[in-house]
Amino acid sequence: MDLLEHQGKRLFADAGLPVLHARLALTAAQAQAAIGELGLPVVVKAQVKTGGRGKAGGIRYCTTEGEVAAAAADILAMTVRGHRAASVLVEQAVEIAHELYLAISSSRAQRGPVLVFSAEGGVDIEEVARRNPAALVRTPVDPLLGLCDYQVRDVVAAAALGPEHTGPDGTPAKQALAAVVRAVWRLYRDSDATLCEINPLVVTTSGEVVCLDSKVTIDDNALYRHADLKADAEAGAEDREARARKAGLAFVALDGDIGVLGNGAGLVMSTIDQIAAAGGSAADFCDIGGGARAEVVATALEVILAAGTVRALLVSIFGGITRCDEVARGLVQVLGETTVDVPVVVRLDGNAAAEGRAVLAGARLPGLTVATDAAEAVRLAVAGAAAQAGSGTLPQARPDLPREA
Ligand code: GDP
Ligand code: MN
Repeated sequence: MDLLEHQGKRLFADAGLPVLHARLALTAAQAQAAIGELGLPVVVKAQVKTGGRGKAGGIRYCTTEGEVAAAAADILAMTVRGHRAASVLVEQAVEIAHELYLAISSSRAQRGPVLVFSAEGGVDIEEVARRNPAALVRTPVDPLLGLCDYQVRDVVAAAALGPEHTGPDGTPAKQALAAVVRAVWRLYRDSDATLCEINPLVVTTSGEVVCLDSKVTIDDNALYRHADLKADAEAGAEDREARARKAGLAFVALDGDIGVLGNGAGLVMSTIDQIAAAGGSAADFCDIGGGARAEVVATALEVILAAGTVRALLVSIFGGITRCDEVARGLVQVLGETTVDVPVVVRLDGNAAAEGRAVLAGARLPGLTVATDAAEAVRLAVAGAAAQAGSGTLPQARPDLPREA
């Protein structure tokens, strides 16, 4: 389960990690009201489960009350890389001297936790790894021994902070960084996280170390031990992931513009690969699983289309336990009730495929094409999305802060 930035920061605060004063706002008026408590300047941040918000215009630095209200209104109305923000975090702004990167994540290759640190934070870490692998500290953490002192020292050494970096209370930034590294490890372990990432972890011009961003993922299989977190994330509103999870769907939002719905993770992943090979990009991973009924298909479509960034929809079903006619009925239900103004391409094979095709043919839905096979379906969806893009139907996100983090 991925947490929103403000949920992750609440865990950070409980774990003793340094975070700034902030207020969550659901409306522009609430954002403006938060200034009374926080003062100015502030940063207004879209609460969406995707990185690169800065680049996409979802993070705004504001110096006046009017700017705060306008930024909040803008962000709440737009989509940030395919995600609609139900709330914004209004947070005290700081002056940044250095942006660092710190994460602990579960590594398949290491079969355990790995700590990654870079003195070049604020940017995409994969980029740093490619360009300058020597700039990274990457150290496996033995889950039984825990984080060792030498590993903390390695991080502090790589940060290369001098005596000029000292906080207002006299704490050297080096010491503050060491405490952060230890606290992140404890948080990762105690919250059954698979990822705790801080990018950027900053040293301010006044020498303080602060977690400016949070990205936390909790292992779904451990959620029974974190009932509070789970309730919180699900109450968190009409979040697409939460809606999908409740309906029993495996759903991951992606950055592209072709909505993908299929049965079985392998089929969905290979469909996404085929789309990429044909020059398109998938908007999501949506697996309705085996034996899905019409209502589940209907929910899946709603969740996919809710992003508002989909330019074509590709439904690929290889019926085994799943009956193609059940899927077809779900499609007819949603497409009959909602105006879907993007092309819909359907591929039905396997269990009850002929019945499914008959259901679709009988419904005569405008904009829906039944493809003869999976490859044709991909071709049609990619071409359909490209045609929609050419007609310029979607508003582009406006870049604001230029940096990706
Ligand atoms: P992300 O783009 O989704 O990773 O969002 P972040 O929370 O990492 O913010 C993106 C960038 O905004 C950071 O790397 C900072 O450069 C900038 N930023 C965020 N908060 C502040 C702040 O308080 N002061 C300043 N000067 N920049 C900030
Ligand atoms: Mn970030």
